[in-house]
Amino acid sequence: MDLEDSDYKDLDFKKVAAFHGHACPGLALGYRLSLVALRDYLVKRDVDEEAVAIVENDSCAVDAVQFMTGCTFGKGNLIFKDYGKQVYTFIKRPPQCVTPKGENAQGGNPQCGSPQGVRAGGENESGNQQGGHEDGGGECREQLAEGFRLSVKWQSPPETIEESRMWERYSGGDRSESVLRAVHDRKSRKIASILDADDDELFDVTHVEVRLPEPARIHKSLICGKCGERVMETRTVVNKGHIYCIPCSGVGGQ
Ligand SMILES: [Zn+2]
Ligand SMILES: [Zn+2]
Repeated sequence: MDLEDSDYKDLDFKKVAAFHGHACPGLALGYRLSLVALRDYLVKRDVDEEAVAIVENDSCAVDAVQFMTGCTFGKGNLIFKDYGKQVYTFIKRPPQCVTPKGENAQGGNPQCGSPQGVRAGGENESGNQQGGHEDGGGECREQLAEGFRLSVKWQSPPETIEESRMWERYSGGDRSESVLRAVHDRKSRKIASILDADDDELFDVTHVEVRLPEPARIHKSLICGKCGERVMETRTVVNKGHIYCIPCSGVGGQ
């Protein structure tokens, strides 16, 4: 694969499993849903935040979504909502709203207009087709975009009595060869059934209106007054005139 190759067609489930570390049913679902999103909506793999993925869980499937679609945690175009739902929404950003994080991306996109498929300003449908927002700022986040939403409806086939007996033993800590083989076989069958299923057995697909998330931005770094390490300005805590990182401030996680 070339650097910045937006073609996804040479990516297969084996490569996804190599990235994730193991093959599992969740990963297979993520792989299949990513293929549908790429084929029917995104067209190409994300290079510079042209697309955004909103994932409503943090399961194995999300690794497949990142690998396949190029919407990643690191680029800032993978948005995690902790809803515990197998729902994935993809949005294509209008070109004016793309600010590659890897480049000089300070500030917003003053030229953000209202291109095809995207309209500005929430509920108000009237006039205003040039993307002029009320505050004149033209912030991308104030736009609504059409999103492509996949909801997983696949359910694993019911277990046989033998399978649930083996699973119980496995859950109880039994790692004997017969138990491990049974658990592994069951997992393999689930993966195969997901990989072989038709799209409409796996997902419900709908087009939805979504508020366009703001592109990732790069902020300047400040030096923490206690540990001396660099910390992104928007994550600093000021106490008695001194600037601290969150761990040193005593606020939030340690
Ligand atoms: Zn997994
Ligand atoms: Zn510190």
